[in-house]
Amino acid sequence: MFEIEQKVMDEARQGEAYQGLEEETQGSEKRFYIESYGCQMNFSDSEIIASILNSSGFGSTRDADNADLILLNTCSIREKAEQTIRKRLTEFKKIKKNNPGLLIGVLGCMAERLKSKLLEEEKLVDIVVGPDAYRTLPQLIEEAETGTKAVNVLLSREETYADISPVRINSNGITAFVSIMRGCNNMCAFCVVPFTRGRERSRDNESIIQECKDLFERGFKEVTLLGQNVDSYYWVDPISNHAIDFAMLLEQVALISPKLRVRFSTSHPKDITEKVLQTMKAHENICKYIHLPIQSGSTRILQLMNRTYTREWYLAKVKRIKEVMPDCAISSDIIAGFCTEDDNDHYDTLDVMRTSKYEYSYMFMYSERPGTLAAKRYKDDVPLEVKQQRLAEIVSLQNQLSLETNKLDIGKTFEVLIEGNSKKSDEQWMGRNSQNKVVVFDKTDAIMKPGDYVLVVVHDCTQGTLIGKIVS
Ligand code: SAM
Ligand code: SF4
Repeated sequence: MFEIEQKVMDEARQGEAYQGLEEETQGSEKRFYIESYGCQMNFSDSEIIASILNSSGFGSTRDADNADLILLNTCSIREKAEQTIRKRLTEFKKIKKNNPGLLIGVLGCMAERLKSKLLEEEKLVDIVVGPDAYRTLPQLIEEAETGTKAVNVLLSREETYADISPVRINSNGITAFVSIMRGCNNMCAFCVVPFTRGRERSRDNESIIQECKDLFERGFKEVTLLGQNVDSYYWVDPISNHAIDFAMLLEQVALISPKLRVRFSTSHPKDITEKVLQTMKAHENICKYIHLPIQSGSTRILQLMNRTYTREWYLAKVKRIKEVMPDCAISSDIIAGFCTEDDNDHYDTLDVMRTSKYEYSYMFMYSERPGTLAAKRYKDDVPLEVKQQRLAEIVSLQNQLSLETNKLDIGKTFEVLIEGNSKKSDEQWMGRNSQNKVVVFDKTDAIMKPGDYVLVVVHDCTQGTLIGKIVS
């Protein structure tokens, strides 16, 4: 099922262990093992952490049993995410018993949210580090080696790790994520991110372009510019005073090479501008795909969520995107069962989904997070069974929409970037089209390889995949 595949694509990466490169680990006496959870920003941060640890003499291992240091890069977005980490920690007890010198660190959003409380609650943990304090990891490890528990959860208004060259983790060598900003100023009522990741700050423009150029020179063919709210990217060069907004950054990256595809995520509907849409239209290598989370289709709920747009405003934005780029795919995030949501609000959400014809959605049940505006102001009053029922209806509608939009692609020809073998067969390639849809097709030409662009005509589909044939 498509929705399941969508979730699996994300969830399959949850807890993914770092696959270090042979040469990185040679000559290192100590080994670290890292697992990453949560959103793409965390996976991207783990690449920065790996780089910091490599520079201070740590090699990597994919085997927790062989590690001197086990790190979990954690997520706090829903309660379930934190429960997963707590359960995972208990599994390390045995390893620590066999290897008393082993250090265990909790990094990321859960570290930031719980701070030193985490050390009290989880006796196994030696190190707690928030998302803006990774540079201090080597000192914290030294401190912990003396038997003192080490914590640094200071948030920063400046840190972007711009000068650190990320070590690409589990990379296919073709697609890479490039962080362009950190933090978030939006204060959506349900969301813990502004508390765990701090104030929004944009990364030095030059360092982003340089990183993208380096990736392209190393054979990468696609970069995804990452941030909680990429459309509010804004960087002023301190010397020239020249200001760069997101549309300008997008264009700069697109101009590196027509053979480098550019994607971005996430766009807050209130911030995506006409200038960004026109820039996307003007450059073929900027992928025609926008992740534009609605969260709820009810204006009343959107107001309680502090999303700062109405249902009508959102739908007008979707309409405009389709006017400028009729072939642009749109995906969404949807929360079922936010505080006070009634059946009519829920029907409004289903209605917006139908009107927007989302290609994909990430769908969640509302989970109250301590300290958020919603937790302070509203009662989490939608019963669990009702949340479950509404989520099931949302998922079922999305599955239907995904299949319908995929069927419309039958007969069309797309340029596809080959990423590797298809999951089901080594006789088939898997790649994506500009709209971010997975396309599989038979290997007909021995010379073709991952990183090549091919034209594929679609003749069949499932909810999650377009099935095609190379156009000779
Ligand atoms: N900054 C992005 C945005 O605004 O769309 C993504 C933020 S968050 C990492 C990803 C998604 O998690 C959100 O869009 C929202 O749908 C969901 N989410 C955040 N807090 C939640 C909560 N308390 N309960 C359920 N889902 C939540
Ligand atoms: Fe959370 Fe809203 Fe910021 Fe996204 S925009 S990270 S949902 S506060």
